Order: sequence, then structure tokens, then C-alpha cells
Amino acid sequence: MTRDDLNSKLRISKEEMQQYGYKIIDHIVNHFETQNSKKPVTFASREEMDSLLTENIPDNPTPANEVLDFVMNNIIPNSNIVSHPKSYSFVPGPSNYISAMADTIATGFNIFSGGWAASPAAAELEIIVMNWLLNIFGFPTKKGGGIFTSGGSMANLTALVTARRIKCGDDFSKAIIYLSDQAHSSNIKAIKVIGFKKEQIRIIPTDIEFKVALNKLKNVIAKDRLEGLQPFCFIASAGTTNTGTVDPLNEIADICEKEGLWMHVDGAYGGAAILSSKGKLLLKGIERADSLTVDPHKWFYQPYEIGCLLIKDHSWLSSTFSEKPEYLRDIEGNESEINFYDHGIQLTRRFRALKFYMSIKTFGLESFKKAIQYNIDLAEQTEDILRNSAYWEITSPATLAIINFRYNPIGQGLSEKELDSINQNISKKIVDSREALLVTTVLQGQIVLRMCLINPRTTIDDINSTLQQCEVYGKEELKLIQKNPT
Ligand SMILES: *Cc1c(COP(=O)(O)O)cnc(C)c1O
Repeated sequence: MTRDDLNSKLRISKEEMQQYGYKIIDHIVNHFETQNSKKPVTFASREEMDSLLTENIPDNPTPANEVLDFVMNNIIPNSNIVSHPKSYSFVPGPSNYISAMADTIATGFNIFSGGWAASPAAAELEIIVMNWLLNIFGFPTKKGGGIFTSGGSMANLTALVTARRIKCGDDFSKAIIYLSDQAHSSNIKAIKVIGFKKEQIRIIPTDIEFKVALNKLKNVIAKDRLEGLQPFCFIASAGTTNTGTVDPLNEIADICEKEGLWMHVDGAYGGAAILSSKGKLLLKGIERADSLTVDPHKWFYQPYEIGCLLIKDHSWLSSTFSEKPEYLRDIEGNESEINFYDHGIQLTRRFRALKFYMSIKTFGLESFKKAIQYNIDLAEQTEDILRNSAYWEITSPATLAIINFRYNPIGQGLSEKELDSINQNISKKIVDSREALLVTTVLQGQIVLRMCLINPRTTIDDINSTLQQCEVYGKEELKLIQKNPT
């Protein structure tokens, strides 16, 4: 075939496919092997990116290798490396090579993971892996179920649509939903998406440990009932993104049972900690949730995108999402053969279960347990280092591998404003150096530094070197303040 013939079928030759594929694998392997020695932070303005990438849609072909080289040289390097050992901020994405390859298989074979008939094995594998997760979290495996989503946000949205359907039916005009001021923003987004008004949302304050204040929750529910409203759902956090705090799940389950509320647990960040002994203790009561979000692309070390919603009774999903359009009637199948398009929002879905399956099988669950335990221990070791230093103050202790702290050298008597400014500038300088991604958050009005240590390749040496760098910047900032007292 001529090049033109091939192009018009969107093909390249067999030899080119092989050569092209091997080249990509070499790039990815090289990235896994060398990422530690790269800088995790990139900056680029809109103008810079415009001048690098703007072009009109190309009418004519470009040689495949030329396009690939352009991408590898210009596009891939202009992203932060979220799997870098010194990428401490937000929730890092440590990922793993096996799952990255599994995703390549899922894409390479373009497996449609929507319905049983299209791919019985993909549907079965989603059921199998879901059962593993149901087991891990103490959910019933026969009656329970779940679905893989693009991420935690979509899992939370799927949960809330289901909760509303089961608890309120068609009329949710009086329904009230409750969540704490530390709940993840994706929950508020989901509440907005499903069409609740501001007046139907109650943000409950948290205590000094960032746990939802139960007494306040109970008061607000009671007042809403007196006003003839319909309390229907509480969103508990199992590992807040700020501090790793777990709400008191058993007490919340008691309240939800008594009040007839749907208990949704957002464990997108922290859920995976159940695989460690400490995490298991902290997460006690999680098995009492009606629905639970976990996010395998966070602390289960999967590459983007995979989120997960687990549910107590899988019929709740089908009774919420089933539609029976005539063009799908030939593939409905029988009840045990699940069509995941009936269990969530997406019809066409990629084969997300595969990477989870292949990575757990390859490394063994025991390896995941060790990695998670390592992360929790690493955060605790970091806390020890900070506590025993004259420069640092812990603002929120190591919890599920998250720790918050600030530069506050003893005997300096700095004001809150000065401390905020010092810590903001430490973060700015370390990010500007590109050596580490370490940004701030705000806890009880204080600007603090936050580390989320879920990368199993981060070492205590990485942390020590970052802290030493921060101390240098802290001293510089302190000197500036002493020269120009505010
Ligand atoms: C990250 C996170 C989410 C959102 O998940 P995405 O995968 O980013 O959509 C929701 N809740 C919590 C607690 C999170 O940490």
C-alpha cells in the first residue's frame, strides 16, 4: 500500500507500528528509571505554551516519529512529575509501571467495558476486583456492589445521585444534605450538579482535630426536622485532604441509623489505609456506610484515571441508573451478567479494572500493604524530626501519611502575620527552585506547609534534604523580617 492509502485508513505499516511502540516503551521506561533525578516542578505561562504549541489544524500528514519526538521534547516535559519522590503536595500520583502497561493493553485492544455482551471478561473482572474491594472494606460481597469511575469526584457524584434516588424518590425539594467544613470540594460540586439549592446544604463545623462536631450535626438535623425538612444524607470524610483526619465513623453511623440518613463516606484519599494496621483502627465503622468512595489512582498507586464507588446493595445502583432504550435491548442479558452502563453514568467506559487486577496480581496484596504501612511510618518519622527541631512546629500531626507544619523557630516571638508570610515564602522559594513540590494550606487561619507522603519511593533522606532547604529559606525570611519589623 502507498503511504497515501495507509494514511487514509489511519494506519501505519507493521514495522512502523513496532518501531514506534518500542520507542514509546523506551521513553516510559526511561522516565520510570530517571524521574528521581529530574525536577518535579515545571512552570510555563499561557504565552510560552501558546508560542510552543499553537498551530492550525494540520491538513497534511507529518511523519509519525517527528510528531512523537515533538511530543516527547515539548509536551511531556512541561508537566509536574506527580510520581516524583519530592512531590509532596495535593495528593501525589505515585503510579506503577505494571498498571501503566495494563492501561496500554486496555487502550490497545480498545475494550468496551460498558456491557456484558461486549466484553464478558471485562465485566466479570470488574465484578471480581470489586469483590476484592468489598471484602477489604467489610462490605457484603453478595448483596454489595460498586463501579469504577474516572475518579473520586465522579464516584461521589454517583453516590449522591443514588442516595437521593433511594431516600427521596422524585421529590427532593425538602431534602437536606450534611457535610463538614473539611469535606472535599468535589462533594459540593456534586451537590450542585444534582440540582440542590444552597438552602439544602448544611456545612457542619469541625473540632480542633478537624473532625466533624457531632453535637452540632445533631442540633442541625433536629432543627431541620422541626422545620418540616427532610434530612437525607451525611457525607463523612475518611481521610480529609487537608489533614488526613477521619470523622468518627461509628458515631456517625449511629446518627445516620437513628435519623434514617444515607451515610456516604468519602475515602477517596484515605480509604486505602485500611490495608495497614493503624489505618484499619482509624477507619473502624467504615463498613457501616451505605456508600463509599475510594480512589485507586491515589493511594492504591494506580495511574489516572480510576476511582471507585462501593455500595451496600448493588440493586440501588441499577434502580437509579437503569434505562431501557430500544437500541440496547438485544444485549440486556440476564441479571447476574452485569451491564455496568446500568450501574452508573457512563455507557462507553474504558477497561479500568484491568490495571488494578494486573498490579495486585503481579505485586501481591502484601506488597501494597507494606507500601501503605511504609507511607504511614514515613509521615510519623517526619513528625519526630520536626518535633525535635528548634525551627519547626507541628500544626497537625501525622495522620494517614499527611502532616502539616510551619517554620516557627523558638524564642523569636513572631506574630501570626509574620509566620504566615515566612511560611508562604518558604513554599514559594522551594517551588521556584523546582527541587520539591511543597505548597501551603490554611488550617485554623494559619498558613502551613503540608506533606502528603503516599509515594513508596520517597525516603527519609528526601524529606531531610527538603527540610534543610526549607530551613535555609526560613532563615533568610527571618533575617528580612528582623531588618524590617512589621
Ligand atoms: C482527591 C479527592 C477527591 C476527588 O477525587 P478525584 O479523583 O480528584 O476526582 C474527593 N474526595 C477526597 C477526600 C479527595 O482527596
